[in-house]
Amino acid sequence: MTSTETAYDDNCLFCRIAAGQIPATIVRDSADFLSFRDINPQAPTHVLVIPKAHGYRDAGELAAKNPELAGRLIAEGAEVARLEGLADHADIPGYRLVLNTDDAAGQTVYHVHLHVLGGDALGHFGSAAH
Ligand code: 5GP
Ligand code: ZN
Repeated sequence: MTSTETAYDDNCLFCRIAAGQIPATIVRDSADFLSFRDINPQAPTHVLVIPKAHGYRDAGELAAKNPELAGRLIAEGAEVARLEGLADHADIPGYRLVLNTDDAAGQTVYHVHLHVLGGDALGHFGSAAH
């Protein structure tokens, strides 16, 4: 653990899920990451991947403070996509990895989390209103 990490923040929703205090549908539990289904899925498959350690509010902070963990977060998302059958889906292979950052992107939980989305054609992303 680095000096910037806190093992656990009692006020953080995702820390509470990682600690088993709030139930979630766990997809994969590895040494440093927990993956669980989003409670409000935006695609047929929608999994959130979090580092178990608290202390990184968003992707930029994670990459700046712990680039090694940031790289492994992406790898963990790709592994979840593979395990969920998205990477080699027979009809629509592929998936989307999303790291929402702050208000403009609608970030609501400030414990960095990677969205893994797929299972259907996702459409291309764009701005909310133009
Ligand atoms: P953000 O908008 O911060 O990028 O993503 C937060 C995500 O957490 C949202 O997609 C939201 O549906 C999900 N979420 C919020 N509360 C819970 C919860 O209690 N359990 C689970 N599994 N997901 C949650
Ligand atoms: Zn947390």
